[in-house]
Amino acid sequence: MAETIVVALGGNAIKSASEAGNYGQQLARVQESMAAVARLIALGYHVVITHGNGPQVGDILLQQEAAKEQVPSMPMDVCGAESQGQIGYMIQQALGNALRRHRLTRPVCTVLTQVLVYADDPAFANPSKPIGPFYSASQGEAMRAKGYTIIEDAGRGYRRVVPSPQPREIIEIKVIRALIQRSAIVVCSGGGGVPVLRDEDGQLCGVEAVIDKDLAGALLATQLEADRLLILTDVANAAINFRQPDQQDLGRISPAEARQYIEQGQFAKGSMLPKVLAAVRFAESAPGRSAHITRIENALAALKGEAGTMVAAET
Ligand code: ADP
Ligand code: MG
Repeated sequence: MAETIVVALGGNAIKSASEAGNYGQQLARVQESMAAVARLIALGYHVVITHGNGPQVGDILLQQEAAKEQVPSMPMDVCGAESQGQIGYMIQQALGNALRRHRLTRPVCTVLTQVLVYADDPAFANPSKPIGPFYSASQGEAMRAKGYTIIEDAGRGYRRVVPSPQPREIIEIKVIRALIQRSAIVVCSGGGGVPVLRDEDGQLCGVEAVIDKDLAGALLATQLEADRLLILTDVANAAINFRQPDQQDLGRISPAEARQYIEQGQFAKGSMLPKVLAAVRFAESAPGRSAHITRIENALAALKGEAGTMVAAET
């Protein structure tokens, strides 16, 4: 039977770090990435796509900041929703075109996704995820006075930080499943999804936070009972002793080994750590499931076990 694969696209699949990222550049990058995804689909894999939104939501926040005297600013959750639409649109169009080149007429659609977080998540007491523009000391002070949490970011200026709570539930999971059953390629949980809280009456409400897209991807893959989670980023492997003379790229490892490396602090917070954690969570969610971390160019080789870092229980 064909395997279901959740593909989590990193920032690099949408906007190359070496470019300013105007529309033409981002579209060209998305087209390249979707050519690779279309090849997987043409081979018969059932693909579900999720993606990051850091640079795009950062740009939206910067635009708001620049125009705040003319246009009312929107909260983080609305900006996250905007970025899901913007990126989902580019992926939908580029993937549809790439599939047509393979003579495939599968529908592609984006589901604007909310992801439940818990109000008692410890992350809310400790905002840690830097977002949006850099500010001067005085601008930072003014933001603080408005109630935002502002930190000094590695000597580069002052920046707003928001909580990064754990994803608990994909609110739109049923509609995502229904679309997949109708053979649609679904783009969902973009940017980790829009974080929402649920009150005692079951009412949802957006919250100023950012959910890690790889952790949300692991939850999505688990809830969809996918066979694989394919995390595509800008390095070929997760490594130990990263950027040290004795760096060692990781091939196939068990979830237990991965946890040991996590405890040793081998993976940087906010970049490789959530990817390895997402891989572990998914690989442990049911027998036979594997997670892979690699570059988009190596996607197929990774699925064959010939490239990238693979987290899977020993069989
Ligand atoms: P994405 O935008 O694709 O989600 P990130 O930039 O957040 O990816 O994370 C990927 C980056 O993690 C790599 O470019 C690499 O510099 C960094 N990194 C940190 N620790 C490690 C490690 N132990 N092994 C490999 N890469 C690591
Ligand atoms: Mg990145």
